[in-house]
Amino acid sequence: MARIVLKFGGTSVGDIDRIKNVARKVEQEVKAGHQVAVVVSAMSGVTNQLVKYCNDIDKLHDAREYDAVVASGEQVTSGLLAIALQSLGIPARSWAGWQVPIRTDDTHGKARIVSIDTTEMEKSLQTGEVAVVAGFQGVSEQGRIATLGRGGSDTSAVALAAAVKADRCDIYTDVDGVYTTDPRIVAKARKLDKITYEEMLEMASQGAKVLQTRSVEMAMNHRVRVQVLSSFEAAAGSSLPGTLVVDEDEIVEKEVVSGIAYSRDEAKITLVGVADQPGVAAAIFGPLTDNAVNVDMIVQNVSEDGKSTDMTFTVGKADIARAVKVLEDAQSTLNYKRIVSDANVVKVSVIGVGMRSHAGVAQRMFKALADKGINIQVISTSEIKISVLIAEEYAELALRALHTAYGLDAA
Ligand code: ASP
Ligand code: MG
Repeated sequence: MARIVLKFGGTSVGDIDRIKNVARKVEQEVKAGHQVAVVVSAMSGVTNQLVKYCNDIDKLHDAREYDAVVASGEQVTSGLLAIALQSLGIPARSWAGWQVPIRTDDTHGKARIVSIDTTEMEKSLQTGEVAVVAGFQGVSEQGRIATLGRGGSDTSAVALAAAVKADRCDIYTDVDGVYTTDPRIVAKARKLDKITYEEMLEMASQGAKVLQTRSVEMAMNHRVRVQVLSSFEAAAGSSLPGTLVVDEDEIVEKEVVSGIAYSRDEAKITLVGVADQPGVAAAIFGPLTDNAVNVDMIVQNVSEDGKSTDMTFTVGKADIARAVKVLEDAQSTLNYKRIVSDANVVKVSVIGVGMRSHAGVAQRMFKALADKGINIQVISTSEIKISVLIAEEYAELALRALHTAYGLDAA
């Protein structure tokens, strides 16, 4: 007997038939003798609608009330799935985040899970009852409902799996696994059987939408065995295995590059003519941090005259207006000549643990892009990742060229 956590995303519970279908999948695991906890998302489209309701009343709404509203989507699905399971004769009950309780900090709208008290759920699981947990939510230190950020039910599932010491955490979604790159753009993208935690973390944080970044972080820290798989595979008549997220030593054949991610959520800002002297970077990025603007890639050019230089960096697209305003307000202290911003950019990242032991990986990327006449605007690297910023219109061309250049194309 194993203990497993299953998570079903929005499209998997998108209507009543699909919820019934999920119930049958859960039934299989129960019949196999396992103890099962299920984490559900809101039905697809529901969270967006709830967010819109809040914004339609007031864009500057109280974040605690936003959480009260948007968390309701998951409460609906947890109850519906419990009913569907009961109607199959399987004992089941729903759990809202506060009922478990899943305790979070007070960062409403993007709260972090602090702890999960599993005492009551343990008792329930021991009796063979299926726990149907509303994903995406918890209860803050102040006793208010808090949500975990968009895509947060992945994190609920992994956190719960860690807390109840589950043998497996299966994330059911509308794709059948993690791909070398977005298969909607690159037809020759391949599904990966396995990917390391570190690579998955980079893939998620560099734009792959398949798992919430925080959920991967959590899986890595607690060594939760996560599997990404399709909830529609049964309908297609096959039972294809998904992608397993594992430790590096579980992967025998390491590719130099395992995957290519891209993010359109970037915007570039250049401060032209800033003084080349100690304290300048701190003076620029301090006010941005104070205004909750996250800065990603940064380049500072060398100054020819030893006096002034240019500073280029990227921020999230949603933050560009705020970032420019903050920097304009600080013009008198920063003393730059001009500020230039460009939202028409995309960040493309090649990722692979094999990079640690191979030379020439970056060069292959630069060459592949050069061959297509694509200009690189900013470069940043980490141990297992190389990212470049390019003009948005080249995103697709770049992904295809790189996919081929690193030998990732399906046969
Ligand atoms: N329903 C939430 C969202 O759409 C959480 C999730 O689906 O993971 O972001
Ligand atoms: Mg998701």
